[in-house]
Amino acid sequence: MVKKLRNKILAANWKMNLNRLEAFSLLQKISNMTIRENDKEIVFVPSVFLPMCEEVLTNSCVFYGAQNVYFEEKGAFTGELSITHISDFGARYALVGHSERRNIFGENSELLNKKLKGLLSHNITPVLCIGEPLKERENKTYEAFLYKQLKEAMVGICAEDAKKIIYAYEPIWAIGTGKTARPGDIKTTLEFIRNTLNYMYEGIKEEVYILYGGSVKKDNIDEIINTNHCDGVLVGGAALDFDSWNRIVNYEVK
Ligand code: PEP
Repeated sequence: MVKKLRNKILAANWKMNLNRLEAFSLLQKISNMTIRENDKEIVFVPSVFLPMCEEVLTNSCVFYGAQNVYFEEKGAFTGELSITHISDFGARYALVGHSERRNIFGENSELLNKKLKGLLSHNITPVLCIGEPLKERENKTYEAFLYKQLKEAMVGICAEDAKKIIYAYEPIWAIGTGKTARPGDIKTTLEFIRNTLNYMYEGIKEEVYILYGGSVKKDNIDEIINTNHCDGVLVGGAALDFDSWNRIVNYEVK
């Protein structure tokens, strides 16, 4: 059994939502939120809103990050943003390997591995998302699937760097579907990921943060976040409305 970690991480993934006015209004409300001491709140915005985050969140306790970056420093990569671009606007975090990037944009493990290495070398914390499709869950092959995703993404990453990464378990069948994984399944899968990381990097177990994501809402946050091995949540749809996000960030400790 892993001892209770210090704090929780509450991360919002806005995806490709909100217009400029809506984003500004939500960021302003977020900047005035109260949050439990030692917890960490991170908002992943569409990158066009990073300057707005810098303006509104810089003196708040809320961190922000990008949903995607390219690993190269600069050059002929039309449409991409470099890690320096996002860090110049104060982003300290970036999502890597979200299932929408893997499935819609065809991002493979080799690319994700390069993104992880690039971010780590720029002191930007990656949030590495892994998660199985429904078929793997139904066939009970999800552990092998998750192990492969982790192993391939982490090639050549040392233990010190592995500790800096935040891991997010997001079963694909639970993202944006309203179907949440059962607390028992969340616990055993997060524990499996923790043990796998410990197998890959001996002794890392108690130092890594592992989040759950997939249809987290204000109605299920208390149950999910109090599940053993859950160090926080990554929230999509329910983070777009201030009242809902505020309730999630101010979850009840059980
Ligand atoms: C996500 O986009 O990472 C996510 C978990 O979305 P939702 O909360 O809407 O399922």
